[in-house]
Amino acid sequence: MRALILSILAALTVLPAPPSFAQRPANELGRVMILEYHKIDHPEGRWTRTPANFRADLQRLWEKGYRLVALTDLLDGKIDVPAGMTPVILTFDDSSPGQFRYLEKNGAGEVDPDSAVGILEAFAREHPEFGLKATFYVLPAADPPNRLFNQPAYEERKLRYLVSRGFEIGNHTLWHANLSRYGEETVRKQLAQAQERIQRYVPGYRPRTLALPMGAYPREIGWAVRGSINGTSYQHDAILMVSGGAAPSPFSKNFDPLRLNRIQALEPELSSWLGYFDKHPEARFVSDGDPRTVAVPKSKKDEVRNPLPQGLRVVEAPSPLSSPPPGERVGVRGSKER
Ligand SMILES: [Zn+2]
Repeated sequence: MRALILSILAALTVLPAPPSFAQRPANELGRVMILEYHKIDHPEGRWTRTPANFRADLQRLWEKGYRLVALTDLLDGKIDVPAGMTPVILTFDDSSPGQFRYLEKNGAGEVDPDSAVGILEAFAREHPEFGLKATFYVLPAADPPNRLFNQPAYEERKLRYLVSRGFEIGNHTLWHANLSRYGEETVRKQLAQAQERIQRYVPGYRPRTLALPMGAYPREIGWAVRGSINGTSYQHDAILMVSGGAAPSPFSKNFDPLRLNRIQALEPELSSWLGYFDKHPEARFVSDGDPRTVAVPKSKKDEVRNPLPQGLRVVEAPSPLSSPPPGERVGVRGSKER
């Protein structure tokens, strides 16, 4: 018993103080993670994160100083997170049931607390500063269970709810078409008709971003960027791939919105990237807390994109840390994350 108490005390004394994120030097040319989720369901698998693991992901991001930002805000250069924090973007592909489910309760639908939307909302209630943002790349004409979250009676209500809560809906084609296999007309129809189906439920809504099924580009990228067919016009300000790692800062010369990298949010890949940014804080986007300025270390000024999104100006930031700040919990959970 005494040994147990002593070992608990010993463990407590080595617990580091929570990191003081506000002390991190700003570096708004650092990289940003755009996380890509598929199923939120049981059991954990190649395309599946369990509800418990998804919750744990949010907790890890929160503790490591990440805050949710909408993808379109990233594109527009509107990074409004407190000083020292790092923006992160959540995306959900294929509108599978576990992403957004209603439960029948007393005759009224209630958001399933174990679906991704329910989990995100609960986490945001407990941690309002974390934010409540995500983009859902839905399939309006796929076979079940991937057609608009697989509850036909709730399709309209779900899409409207997502938009009303500030979530974004993205284009993922009508039924997950591999756009590299089709000619121009089919590619354009897949994109325009997917948008029409979304607008049938949310009039006037424009999906501003496209996630390519299987990451496959059409023969000409222009077909996916903008067009008009049978009276429907579409325009995508960003095209997302299915892999590639952390994305460049939206203020970097290397930022290419038509070829945006994502990170598949499964245990090995997510842990590896979180660990990478723990060990290399200088590589990570760190906000200066002012959405109107782009804080850049002097040595990196010529890496800034020109022109910047309207209204933004560059300010000089101290040199980024090349080693983790004191108190950072690098390695403490190493055994769990390996
Ligand atoms: Zn997909």
